[in-house]
Parts: sequence; structure tokens; C-alpha cells
Amino acid sequence: MLEFPSAPVVSRLAPTPSGFLHLGNAVNFTLTWLLTRRAGGTLHLRIDDLDRARCRPAYLANIFETLAWLGLDYDHGPSGPDEFERHYSQQHRLAEYEQALQAARAAHPSLFYACRCSRTTLARAAAPNGHYPGTCAALALPFDAPDLAWRTRVPPATTVAWPDLAQGPQTVALTEELGDFVVRKKDGAPAYQVASVLDDQRLGVNFIVRGQDLRTSTAAQLWLAESLPGQAGFTHTRFLHHGLLLDAAGQKLSKSTQTSQQRGILAEATSPQVVYRAVAALLGLPAGTGMSLAELLAEYSPR
Ligand SMILES: [Zn+2]
Repeated sequence: MLEFPSAPVVSRLAPTPSGFLHLGNAVNFTLTWLLTRRAGGTLHLRIDDLDRARCRPAYLANIFETLAWLGLDYDHGPSGPDEFERHYSQQHRLAEYEQALQAARAAHPSLFYACRCSRTTLARAAAPNGHYPGTCAALALPFDAPDLAWRTRVPPATTVAWPDLAQGPQTVALTEELGDFVVRKKDGAPAYQVASVLDDQRLGVNFIVRGQDLRTSTAAQLWLAESLPGQAGFTHTRFLHHGLLLDAAGQKLSKSTQTSQQRGILAEATSPQVVYRAVAALLGLPAGTGMSLAELLAEYSPR
């Protein structure tokens, strides 16, 4: 079932230092590591610290501690917080993101518009589906005025399709599921969707493993990449969206276990085997209680 890219696999772990990593993150990292290592691929650690207001040194340190605890190695990326801050932070690439956004706007003038809506206005005016109602779409506000966000115009009935490695053929109705989305925030920083595409392309990533909750994000990125000059290669990325986590009894893990931001998996689990077992369950593999990472790797072979 797993049809890997024909080129050598390049993937990434992409945590955000805005909270302690939880079980869901740990499972995603382990699954990404397993699939990439089994394919003989290259693995990057790429940390998303675009939103500096939410980043904390303790969360950054927690990323490295969690990867060490899980026993996951990677081929490229920062070895620790200091090296991350010096050489890998997205703050070093703000000019690069800005250049890409300006180039996209120059190449596709009608695709973007400036939006002055405040958080409060947005909350009041949201369409029944919670989407941006297009308040500023026809106002032609100046892009370079202060305190304006940039949105991309998602045309009516836009759908995005891709062959998912785990879920089979996927189609997302982007207009209905997302609507006109922000590509540049009011502070001038790129939105996550933009930075993520540019970073993955810069690293040569061709295989992305993420949870099903990011399907809409994937659709937005695939669609947007075609309008970002030089980034169309992103549309050849292979995606694997993994499902919900089940415990040993086949029950969905409780939300508090899955999303706890308070202490994180390092504080909650006595050993990483709980993570390995969850990964084995996702892959439909047998998992003993004492399963090690080496056993998981040995047990799993791409079909
Ligand atoms: Zn607006």
C-alpha cells in the first residue's frame, strides 16, 4: 500500500516550541522516523518558531529531550537549543519568506488582498461555517499599509486532491472547508502555510507524515504552492495522514492524554514504550508491552 516517492525519501520532524510535546506529537515523530528509516531516507529536524510570542525556552528544550527519550535520530538539523537559535530559527529567514510573498503577489495580483479586520470584527462577522466572510475582499486596501494582513482569494468550488499513502485518494473542498486564508500576518510575518511550504521545499522534503487533523492544511499548502514562484515542486510531495490514536484495547485515547499541554508526554509516561505501542497499533502491527524501538523497526516493513 505504501508507495514511496521514486526519488530517495526526504522527510522531517516539525515540532513547534509552543507547548510541551504530547503523546500525539511523539507518535507522529516515531511514525515519521520509522517510515523514513525503513525507506532508507533522510530525516530533518525542522522546528517551527515563527510565532515567537508563544515560544518558551523550556518548550524548545523539551523537543530535544523528547526526541532523545524516544531514541529518534535525525540526519540534519540543530543538535540543541543553542544551535537552533544561532542557525536554524525561522527568524533568520523572515526576509526570504517576505520575498516569496512579494513575488507571489507580483505574479498573481488578483489572488491576494489586504484585510484590516480585527480579531473582534472577525469573531462577529464569521460566516456560519466559521470562515472569513470576505469583508475586505473588494476593498482594494493597500498591501503596504501598517497593521493589515494579506489573504489569498480561494475561488468558488476550489477542490484539492492528492493520493494519500495511508488514506487513499483524498479530496478537500478548500473553499468550503477553509475559505480565504491569511498568508501574511499583521506583523508582517508569513502565515504557517507559507513558511511550511517554503521550508519543506528548501530542505528538499518529498514525504510528509501528519495527523488527519491537518488534511485541510495540506490542501491549502498544495493549492498555494502553485502560486508561490519556484515552489510548484511542493505539489509532488507524498503525504501520509495518520488516523486517531487507539490504546491497546482499541479505544480512542482520551483527549486529555492526547492533547495535554500542561506537562507533556515526558512527564506523563514512565517509558517510551507507550508511544511505540501506539505506533504499532496505527500500523496494525502486533505489539508486546515491552516493545522497543528496534523491535518496532524490525516488525515493520513497507508493503
Ligand atoms: Zn478583512
